[in-house]
Amino acid sequence: ERKAALAASTGPGATADGHKVPLLANIGGPADVAAAVEAGAEGVGLFRTEFLFLDDSKQAPSEEKQVAAYRQVLEAFPEGRVVVRVLDAGADKPLDFLTPADEPNPALGVRGLRTLLDHPDVLRTQLTALAKAAEGLPVYLEVMAPMVADRTDARAFADACREAGLRAKFGAMVEIPSAALRARSILQEVEFLSLGTNDLAQYTFAADRQVGAVSRLQDPWQPALLDLVELSAEAAKAEGKSCGVCGEAASDPLLACVLTGLGVTSLSMGAASIPYVRATLAKYTLAQCERAAAAARATDSAEDARSAAQAVLSGE
Ligand code: PEP
Ligand code: MG
Repeated sequence: ERKAALAASTGPGATADGHKVPLLANIGGPADVAAAVEAGAEGVGLFRTEFLFLDDSKQAPSEEKQVAAYRQVLEAFPEGRVVVRVLDAGADKPLDFLTPADEPNPALGVRGLRTLLDHPDVLRTQLTALAKAAEGLPVYLEVMAPMVADRTDARAFADACREAGLRAKFGAMVEIPSAALRARSILQEVEFLSLGTNDLAQYTFAADRQVGAVSRLQDPWQPALLDLVELSAEAAKAEGKSCGVCGEAASDPLLACVLTGLGVTSLSMGAASIPYVRATLAKYTLAQCERAAAAARATDSAEDARSAAQAVLSGE
C-alpha cells in the first residue's frame, strides 16, 4: 500500500484540498542534482555551497570555478526555483583560512554571515559568480544568508547583493531565535525567510547539534521550536512574503504537515524524502494540518506533540 501511495505521488506538492506547498531539494552541489530531478523536486530550496570550498584549505575557489559549479545547478532547473545559500563557514563547518582557531565557543562565534562580513572579498566573489552563472537563464534565483541575527545583518547582506549586481531575491535564514522573534523587522530588508531548523533548535535549546547527549533537545517536534516556526511564518504572511523550511524537520512527513499548518510556504529536504512527504501531505487538507499544528503546540514535549498531531491526522 505504501509503495502504491508513493508511486501515485507525483507532481507538485499540495494538500488534499489543493493548497500548494512546493517540495524542494537540499543539495550540496552538482552531484546531487540528478537525484533531486528524479524525485520530482520543484527546485532547490537549499544549495549548501560549502562543498566548493573544501578542496583548498588556504583560499576560496576562483570566481570561474564557482561560476561553472553554480551554472551546472541552475541549468538543471529551467524555470524552477533555486535557492542558493552563501558560504556557511565556522562551527560545525570550519574552514582553515576563514574560521578563527581560538574561539572558546565556535557555534557562538564568527560563523555563517558573520564570517562573510569579516571577509567581504569572499562574499563579493561568491555573489558575482552567482550573478554571472544566472546570466541568460530563465531560472528563478534566490540567494540567502545563513545565521542572520537581526535587521542590521539582513541589511548588510542585501547591500552586498545589490553591490554585486545580483538580480535575484535576497533572503535570510532563520536559525537564531532573535531572527524569529523579530522576523518582521528582518523582512524590511529581505524578500523571503527560510527556517534552518537544525541550527534554530541548537540555539533555542542551547544544545550543541554535534553532541549526542543533548539530542533530546534537538528534536524538531519540540513545541518551543514550533512556536518560533509559527512566529516566522506569521511575520512573512503579514509582510506578503514567503517562509520556507530547509532544515531536517521538513523531511519528516508528519512534521511536514504540521509545518504546513503553521503557515510555512515551502519545504526543502534531502531528495530521498520528497516522495514520502508528497504522499503524506496529499492525504490531508490544510484545515487538518492547521488542527494538527495547534494540537502539537498545545503540548509540552516533543513526544506529546508528535502523538497529538498523529491523533488529529488519523481522526483521533
Ligand atoms: C539548518 O541549520 O537547519 C540548515 C538547514 O543549515 P545547516 O544544516 O547546513 O547548518
Ligand atoms: Mg544551519
